[in-house]
Amino acid sequence: MDPRVLEAMIPYLSDQFGNAASVHHSFGRNAKEAVENSRKILANKINARPKEIVFTSGATESINLAIRGICEKSTEKGHIITQATEHKAVLDTCDAMVKKGWSITVLPVDMDGRVDPSHVKDAIRNDTVLVAIMHANNEIGTIQPMAEIGEICHGNGVLFLVDASQTFGKLDIDVNALHIDLLAATAHKIYGPKGIGLLYVNGKNPKVKMTSQITGGGHEYGLRSGTLPVHQVVGFGKAIEIARKDIESENERLRKWTGMMLSKFEKIGGKLNGHPEKRLAHNLNVRFEGIESKAIINSVSKKIAISAGSACTTQIVEPSHVLLALGLAEDETHSSIRIGCGRFNTDEEIT
Ligand code: PLP
Repeated sequence: MDPRVLEAMIPYLSDQFGNAASVHHSFGRNAKEAVENSRKILANKINARPKEIVFTSGATESINLAIRGICEKSTEKGHIITQATEHKAVLDTCDAMVKKGWSITVLPVDMDGRVDPSHVKDAIRNDTVLVAIMHANNEIGTIQPMAEIGEICHGNGVLFLVDASQTFGKLDIDVNALHIDLLAATAHKIYGPKGIGLLYVNGKNPKVKMTSQITGGGHEYGLRSGTLPVHQVVGFGKAIEIARKDIESENERLRKWTGMMLSKFEKIGGKLNGHPEKRLAHNLNVRFEGIESKAIINSVSKKIAISAGSACTTQIVEPSHVLLALGLAEDETHSSIRIGCGRFNTDEEIT
């Protein structure tokens, strides 16, 4: 976590410990003001209105709320379109909807991990309710053609859900220009605390109608009950405030580092997984054919934290579903490593 974020959070864990829902006294009102200030900053970052932001425990919950909430609200079982390299939060939630009678189309990606917008268009049916496509992939960093897909969804009256866990605060996002109806984001990807995320829910043209998944006191416009963790909300807001100021120079530095590592790896036979240009600045996924990724990771793991896949699924020894979707053979997936660099790395460390 960025120390500036921690500093902003600490007062809300000590002397300013009011409950943002208890507005009958000044402690509660102070907490509410801090929450609403963060909500405004976060909304502003994606050109949304503050009341379109629902705080959750992270992107997994936001995605669950979006998909389950939309499906439950619908009177008939419909159709959802998604794509093969989505995070399990999307894929497994879609599977859960299949068990409830919905039908799902999982679109393929090309060898760089991109979805062809014309495939989205062709997959839309009369009963299609939702298209769920991530902004950028967490394992390979490939960025999807958001504007084209948003345009297609909008033109066909289908809701567009975007998992922006990897891009919120890192790339420019305008939910109106991109025709996004629902957007999931999380604080821990941008040097904020773990356990806090948001769901943007379009409030007009069309106003998204959905049911809550956590019921209770009716917090968050009735969409997500539960006392807000004010310190985490404040941390999320601070993280995005810092990102807004520093992001251009940060991305430039990260791109230089990942580019430098890639060119060195290529000299010793490494091959890039993911798109060569349309990619996140901080992410690098390379394969070294004939070498087990476990061997590489173990040989450096005392000093360097790298992984074979996504953090959420590395406990499972199955090949990465993302790499398989690119068309890699199973042994190629087992010879791939993922490196993420960030704000607090140094030139020396990268070298
Ligand atoms: N979606 C993507 C693309 C991710 O990288 C992650 C990673 O954690 C998630 C969803 C889940 O987010 P959270 O950990 O906030 O639930």
